[in-house]
Order: sequence, then structure tokens, then C-alpha cells
Amino acid sequence: MEIGYCRRCNIPLRDKRCEICGSYPLSLRFHELGDIRPASHYEMDILLSLIPFREVKNYLRRRIVLLAKQPGLDYRKDIFVDGFKFGVLEYIKDGRWRWRFVPTGKGVALIHHLTSHVDFEMRAKGHMKGKKIDRKIDKDWEIVKLGNCVAIAVKERKGVKIKDVYCRKIMERKRSTLKDAVRGNTKFLERIEREAVEMIIKSKARYVAFSGGKDSEVALYLSYLAGVKKAVFLNTGMEFPETVRFVYNFVDFLDMELIELSPQKSFWDLVEEMGIPTKDRRWCTKYLKLEQLKKLQGVIVDGLRKYESLRRLHSPSTRKIGNLRTIYPIFNWLSLDVWLYIHSKGLPYNPLYDMGFERLGCYMCPAMLNAEFHRVKVTHPELFKRWYEYLRKIGYTHEEIMDGNWRWKEPPPKLKEL
Ligand SMILES: [Zn+2]
Repeated sequence: MEIGYCRRCNIPLRDKRCEICGSYPLSLRFHELGDIRPASHYEMDILLSLIPFREVKNYLRRRIVLLAKQPGLDYRKDIFVDGFKFGVLEYIKDGRWRWRFVPTGKGVALIHHLTSHVDFEMRAKGHMKGKKIDRKIDKDWEIVKLGNCVAIAVKERKGVKIKDVYCRKIMERKRSTLKDAVRGNTKFLERIEREAVEMIIKSKARYVAFSGGKDSEVALYLSYLAGVKKAVFLNTGMEFPETVRFVYNFVDFLDMELIELSPQKSFWDLVEEMGIPTKDRRWCTKYLKLEQLKKLQGVIVDGLRKYESLRRLHSPSTRKIGNLRTIYPIFNWLSLDVWLYIHSKGLPYNPLYDMGFERLGCYMCPAMLNAEFHRVKVTHPELFKRWYEYLRKIGYTHEEIMDGNWRWKEPPPKLKEL
């Protein structure tokens, strides 16, 4: 998967030319399901806390930092700065759960360029990339001066290795913000907006599903532009309070009608009958959400996107639930498009995105990353405690809960290794 990148304006581009300077972009490649997007405030804070150089923090704060998912069991993302891969940010367990940032060779060269910092020097003996070296380092990684090149040494289980070497000159790129990115992609955003609105109008949609997340917010806004009047909120009773508040406020802001549907039996009753929902046995969506939709007839707009998950990559472009047909006007949008669109319209968004959450659903959703689940403990201690105590009551140990084992009925082999 790739998008364009204007090096001159230092912004991502979705069309064939930069709308600010007219230059042709180079391509920025990332994982097929990377679903690239700007880093949230929370992610920026985490990243900057892991880089011990003031000059680098200042540099990153004034540029667009993009993140693309990498496959893995938990949070693991490629970081892009100035249009190149700067490093990887991940949430790992080595003894305890923690965040780790490791730069690429070019990333470490940029850090060295901005700070002149060197941890140690080595004499290059031929090709060093990938070689083990006889040295102890304290940190996750160190900056190595290697002749005229800059290299990164990383600590691995079996010793220290030269992970990458970078020998070319580093260019500092222009400062940029999301506002610049919106400016450089205005026509693109207008086009995808127009296509989506036309699709909604053509479908004669009566409803739009609104969960309080960013994708459904955009679907809601586009539906509003297309003349849809009714927003449907499926309240599972396990939503974050911020989400419920945002749903009410945003629907009110657009002066639309809110239809709030709640399950007949509460989650807590269902969990007694069915056991806890897990990634490999997710009864919750069906009972808490889809069943309620059967009360409606006609066409409903939904903010589902294909890049959100592998499963969705292969799902059909429409779906029927009872007498309700679903359409997906932003199915092909990247997370980046969604954020640029939200910023281009100056729309508010759910505050949870800047508090360390990436997919908003129930506060104990098994589809959450451990990085997010641990975050609930900090941001919503009472909600966390209630679920934690339930899991303890049905027999999970503290460690099993914190490692996220409860999220699978049959944990995948990799997780068992933890
Ligand atoms: Zn440009």
C-alpha cells in the first residue's frame, strides 16, 4: 500500500500532484493493512517521552508524524516523518508491559544530525549491517559513529547488534501541520466527499449509524449533507461516557434526530448466560447491536472501512440485516482521509482519540489492544475495576487479565509464549 508525499511541503498527498506547490509526489510505502494516519496527541506524547533529545522533540512537534499499523499481537506501528520511515513504536512485554521506540538507520541519522549526539564510535570493518558486536548497552538502542556513517546498535536477547547503517546526507524538511496537509489535498477531499454524498442520495438512505467513532462521524456528516435526518445510536450500555456525550452533542450540533436503541437484556445479564465475549467468540455485536437494528426498515448508512481489518477487506460492499440494507460510502477511505476530512471541516471529534484509544467501542471490548486496555485503568479506573473484578470472580489471575489472555477463548500460540 502506498500514498504520495510532497517533500517540498512536507505533507502526505492523496492525488497525483501537490495542490500547494504543484510538484509530483514521491511514494510513501507501508503495510497493506497499515491504514496510515496522523499520530494522536497521546501517541505524540508517548513517542516524545521515549526520545531523550530536546532538539528531536522540537523537530517532531513541528512536523506531521504519520503512523501505519504493522501486523502483531498488540500496538506496533511504523512511524513516518519527512516522508520516510523514522522508526517503530510498540507496546511490548519484557518483564513488564511498556512502550518501546526504535529508530531506523535513517531515523537515527536524523537524530544525530539534529543533536550531534554519539553514544560510541567504532571502526568500520567491511559491511556492518546486521553484525553482532561485542559491547554492552544500557538503553534499547544507541547511536554509533561508523566512519562517515551513522549506525544504530540495538539490544537483543542474545547481545548487541548493528541494526542499520545510514551514510547519506540528511536534509531537514519544512515545518508542516495537518492544516497544510488539508490544503494540499483540498480537491481530493472534495472529490471523495462528492462521491460519498452522491452514493447516499442515490441509495435513498433514511438512517445513518452513529457510534461516536471517527469513521461513523464522517459517515454521519456526509449523510447530513445528503439530507438524511435520522442518526441511529446502538447503545450497548458498555460505552465510554465520552462516547455517549459526543454522540448526543454531535447529533444535536447537526440538528438531526437521534434514535437510541438499547438491548432488552443488559450486557451483565447476557454475560452470565453466555460467558465473556472474546475475539474468537464475539456474541456481543449480534446481541447488543445487530438485533436492535431489525426494528428498522429501509437503507442505513454505515462508516465501515475496508482498511480497518483483514476481515473487512473481503467483506461485501452492502449487507442486509432483517429489512434493513446497509451502505458503506467511505469503504475505501484511509484513516488519513477520515482525519483530513474532519480537520478540513473543522469538526469536533471524540476526545478518547487523544487519550490513547484508537478504536472506540465498549470499554471492555476484547478487540481492544492491550495498550488500550491498560489505558482504561488510568483514564476510567471505576469502569476498569468493574470488569477486572468480574474477570477475577470467574477465575482469571491478575497476570492473565493484564496480559489480555481473557480476550481469546483459545489464545493464539504466540500469546501463550508471554
Ligand atoms: Zn507541495
